[in-house]
Amino acid sequence: MSAYSQEIREAIRTVPNWPEPGVMFRDIMPLLQRRDIFRKLIDSFVHRYQNMQLDAVAAIDARGFILGAPLAYELGLSLVPVRKKGKLPFDTVTQEYDLEYGSASIELHTDAFAAGDRVLVMDDLIATGGTMLAACELVRQLQAEVVEVSAIIDLPDLGGSDKLRAAGFDVYAVCE
Ligand code: AMP
Repeated sequence: MSAYSQEIREAIRTVPNWPEPGVMFRDIMPLLQRRDIFRKLIDSFVHRYQNMQLDAVAAIDARGFILGAPLAYELGLSLVPVRKKGKLPFDTVTQEYDLEYGSASIELHTDAFAAGDRVLVMDDLIATGGTMLAACELVRQLQAEVVEVSAIIDLPDLGGSDKLRAAGFDVYAVCE
């Protein structure tokens, strides 16, 4: 692992048994509070994506917004928030996905992309991959192209990144 990935990793706090017993919650708030590390993180995403001819960043509710907004701003891209169900005021497309217990839905406005737009899908973390996969399906439903899905953290033991790759998506995460 590079010194940079290690530094990012060390700035993430693990909170055991939150929000429920058995979950090791990976908390990025301490990373955001470290202004030097937050800047390095966004700069590294800027560096990775600056030559990929992207049109938009689809940022997942809510921690994906924190990463997607500065990246879209810096690269001069559109910012498209992918929202939890019931938050978007205009016409929407909806995708349901499985959670450990039950299910959830995310939505996009029907006019979020132009056909053929090249889109980066961004969140803080990939666990089972269900959220990212649902977001990718929404992007595709609007005839846009998912160029890559991107996160700070991948939890490989939960199989999400493998599932996304098996579905044909390129996956990037800063650390595991
Ligand atoms: P999944 O759909 O299972 O890949 O879960 C990813 C989404 O749930 C992301 O939006 C994460 O912010 C959140 N999430 C899932 N597991 C964790 C975890 N252990 N720590 C922090 N966030 C998590």
